[in-house]
Amino acid sequence: MSVKGDKTMNTAVQDIKTKKQKDKEAFRDTLASVDKLGKRKWIYAQKPKGIFYKIRTYLSLLYFAVFFGLPFVYVNGRPLFMFNIPEAKFVFFGKLFLPQDFFIIGLTMIMFVLFIVLFTSAFGRLFCGWACPQTNFMEMMFRKIEYWIEGDAAQQKMLAKAPWNGEKIFKKGAKHVVFFALSFIISNFFLAYIIGIKDLEKIISEPLSQHIGGFTSLLIFSGIFYGVYAFFREQVCTAICPYGRLQSVLMDKNSMVVAYDYKRGEPRGVAKKNTENNLGDCIDCFACVKVCPTGIDIRNGVQMECVGCTACIDACDNIMDKIGKPRGLIRYASENSIATGEKLHYTTRMKLYTVLCLAVMALLSFLVITRKDVDATVFRTPGLLYQERGADSVSNLYNIKFANKTLKDIPLTIMLENGGGEIQLVGKQTIHIEKEGQGSGSFFVVLPKKMIQSRKTSIKLDLYEGNNKLNTITTSFLGPVE
Ligand code: SF4
Ligand code: SF4
Repeated sequence: MSVKGDKTMNTAVQDIKTKKQKDKEAFRDTLASVDKLGKRKWIYAQKPKGIFYKIRTYLSLLYFAVFFGLPFVYVNGRPLFMFNIPEAKFVFFGKLFLPQDFFIIGLTMIMFVLFIVLFTSAFGRLFCGWACPQTNFMEMMFRKIEYWIEGDAAQQKMLAKAPWNGEKIFKKGAKHVVFFALSFIISNFFLAYIIGIKDLEKIISEPLSQHIGGFTSLLIFSGIFYGVYAFFREQVCTAICPYGRLQSVLMDKNSMVVAYDYKRGEPRGVAKKNTENNLGDCIDCFACVKVCPTGIDIRNGVQMECVGCTACIDACDNIMDKIGKPRGLIRYASENSIATGEKLHYTTRMKLYTVLCLAVMALLSFLVITRKDVDATVFRTPGLLYQERGADSVSNLYNIKFANKTLKDIPLTIMLENGGGEIQLVGKQTIHIEKEGQGSGSFFVVLPKKMIQSRKTSIKLDLYEGNNKLNTITTSFLGPVE
């Protein structure tokens, strides 16, 4: 064959390979929950059965107990956790954090992001399947109620196709009433995490006219939860959740995912009786697809829509048991471990993320331990230098801003750490800071001239509540130099 002929042949082979690859990846062009016309395709996921589903059920009961129980836990008069975003007040383990603690709040967020990156690069979407509130409420609460009222996937499909007779109206009506009632209950607890259970009790027990804002929030949250669990469902994970969208950049071929062992499973198919075959272990029964809450076929490879719920592992293990093959055709594995047979391992990237996480955690612990109950910022009044006080003293005027993170009012006294001078409050005798309050004031520091050695003298101000020193602030004092 001529050189030209060889080239033509190579191009044709290459084209066939590219087409084959395109065909293999064609499933990525469509969404399982959207049809060709772009309309929503309802996913009727079969109820999973198996060891993973059992463990997830027990775990979800624990999560629900924690979610509904935590708002009632108070530590030293404060909720254990509270995220009052409208008032910029946050409580962690009974300690109040105000905007003055933005360093700690910012670092906590950085640590959270680092932890997510580390966790995801090592364990993929383990969080989504096992701990995410959306998955747990959807799969372990709302979907179970749906199975209970409407039956398993096949019965749900039949009910959807049936005319609106008495049975359908009753079942659909009952489901939506229960769904809305549950959404309303969840909203109450959700609001309790924002304003605290005691304020929530007031909204519930006092006249509605006094809590229009709170009640409106409850209705809005209920509407959102109901919309998500009754209609939007898996779309939250496949189209909205930002964590889900980040998977493709956070994971690599060493990340642990729910994966189909194509080396063992392919070529898939059912062997004919008494005939030789070279088929793999997958009998193409679609059990793994039928249980998938996002409607995907995990045998196509790792997909962004997979929330790692393990339902397909259980389904396939049951099939393997029935056909007498070892379990684990679908299992937790990395892409590399399936391709090369190597074990899951701790990669350099994971080690680096761990070191970063530990460093930020150490810094955060230091900041939390050394954090004061009373925060104060002192600064000299802008535009003023110093004032002569008779022949031998000089004063500077200061402004002070403070935040009381305790649950008691504090009468604050300001003193010079090394004595020798005097503090004169402007307009009042004492500074009184209300519990969980913030405020400001002004005061003069008067120093004898003999204490002033340079144009700027560093001074330390101690803040006292009675005899209890709460904080020490370092600032500068301006004076004349002779
Ligand atoms: S459940 Fe297992 S055997 Fe059945 S199609 Fe899925 S991978 Fe193949
Ligand atoms: S592919 Fe498997 S693990 Fe992923 S969402 Fe579907 S059933 Fe869950």
